Amino acid sequence: MTRDPLDVLHETFGFSAFRGVQEQVVTRVLARQNTLAIMPTGAGKSLCYQLPAVALDGCCVVISPLIALMHDQLRAAQALGIRAASLTSVDADWQETQDRFRAGELDLLYVAPERASSEGFRSLLGRASIALFAIDEAHCVSEWGHDFRPDYRLLRPLLDSFPDCPRLALTATADAHTREDILKQLGIAPDGMVIAGFDRPNIRYAVHPRDGLTRQIGDLVASNPGPGIVYAQTRAGTEKLAEQLGRDGRRQVRAYHAGMPPEERRANQDAFIASEDMVMVATVAFGMGIDKPDVRFVVHAGLPKSIEGYYQESGRAGRDGEPAEAHLFWGAEDFIRARMRIGEIEAERQAGERARISALGALVETGGCRRAVLLRHFGESPADTCGNCDNCLSPPDSVDATQTARKLLSAVYRTGQSFGLGHVEAVLRGQNTDKVQQRGHDRLSVFGIVDGEEALLLKPVARALQVRDALATNEHGGLMLGPEARAILRDEVQLPLVLPPKRARRGRRGSDA
Ligand code: ADP
Ligand code: ZN
Repeated sequence: MTRDPLDVLHETFGFSAFRGVQEQVVTRVLARQNTLAIMPTGAGKSLCYQLPAVALDGCCVVISPLIALMHDQLRAAQALGIRAASLTSVDADWQETQDRFRAGELDLLYVAPERASSEGFRSLLGRASIALFAIDEAHCVSEWGHDFRPDYRLLRPLLDSFPDCPRLALTATADAHTREDILKQLGIAPDGMVIAGFDRPNIRYAVHPRDGLTRQIGDLVASNPGPGIVYAQTRAGTEKLAEQLGRDGRRQVRAYHAGMPPEERRANQDAFIASEDMVMVATVAFGMGIDKPDVRFVVHAGLPKSIEGYYQESGRAGRDGEPAEAHLFWGAEDFIRARMRIGEIEAERQAGERARISALGALVETGGCRRAVLLRHFGESPADTCGNCDNCLSPPDSVDATQTARKLLSAVYRTGQSFGLGHVEAVLRGQNTDKVQQRGHDRLSVFGIVDGEEALLLKPVARALQVRDALATNEHGGLMLGPEARAILRDEVQLPLVLPPKRARRGRRGSDA
């Protein structure tokens, strides 16, 4: 016997209404239709299987990749009075849980994927009534996705051996390619996909080239009183930046990363959650599973791993719906490093990684709406302008820099692909430095072909070429041509260059980018 879903929503969860696509997903599940729900973080995915778990006879089996997240959800479900348990390597009460499961006394059973696919588990499932399989973080099933977990591939035979039991896959992060893969891998028909809107209209997006990073972030922190998160790329980086930002004593700043003693980490996290003005400098591990609705800004000190990651991390700002800001600082070396790492991963995953990097390139390089780039990535068809991102609020100037790019690439090539930008620039500007003299570079055809005004474009052009993989760096930091250089040298593609807004260009100081 199935209970009325609205009654369960009011009585068990205490919510007055479904949010967004929750109703659609729950209705499908209760009608036993296989479903892939793509919902951004915070949209309320858990309810989509927890409610049917309560409403339906039989137990809902939830497959989830992280024990910590599983236990968070378990505690939350138990607090609502839902009969829930987990079978993981850290649970001691296996026997009791199995007994309760067999006796039909569980609404929800959480398991890790490697357990779920074991023979023993399958025979346990055969001895009770199962209402639903929920596969959380379903993008883990796809090699194309950013978080592939081989164990997820073993789920299909388990699901197939219970053909009458509906399956619900859930994820916050899936581009079109990954979605197709999830449907295929988990045996869900394409018309079973439900996609929630990804727009977070209260978040103002802004992207800046790094140019004196500590000062740049310091300025932001000084002008944003609310609690904020600054994501640094390394553990050491979080501590250093926290120290620098907190030095003037005007803001409480703490650090958080997985290498810190657990007590200290916990204390910092608790202090942040309770605080109304703290700045937390952290690695991306921070924020997962914590519920702090009033984060006013999220800053990325370097390039995130993917658009999905960026969306999820920046999405920790403004969960309360009040205005919030997301700032991303990047440098060309972020792209160079990311591309170097591609060589170290398995061949099958390289194409996905390359696509992720160029999607990030499109986000940082665009002179158009940042929100539109993000939403298009998630398969939406947004308006061309949003009115609430840096480029919409202050449209940047753009120039055709193709000829400057060709001069720069030629100079890199003719000087032997082993010098940094400083020397290449000296050659192009016709400066008779000692190095130019020693190498005889004043006799090259590219010597002195760039005048003072054009020279101002060389640095941003070099950065744009690096983002596009037209310019690469050797192990000593010397510039060399990348695979995309040829098309530009042959004048087959253009290089439109977005210039930072005039306001930001004034008063620039030295660079630590
Ligand atoms: P996700 O897993 O998609 O990130 P959660 O399931 O953790 O999101 O839900 C996010 C928050 O929204 C939780 O605090 C949850 O209690 C709340 N929530 C979920 N559904 C509703 C609803 N229908 N009405 C009000 N709040 C809801
Ligand atoms: Zn915009």
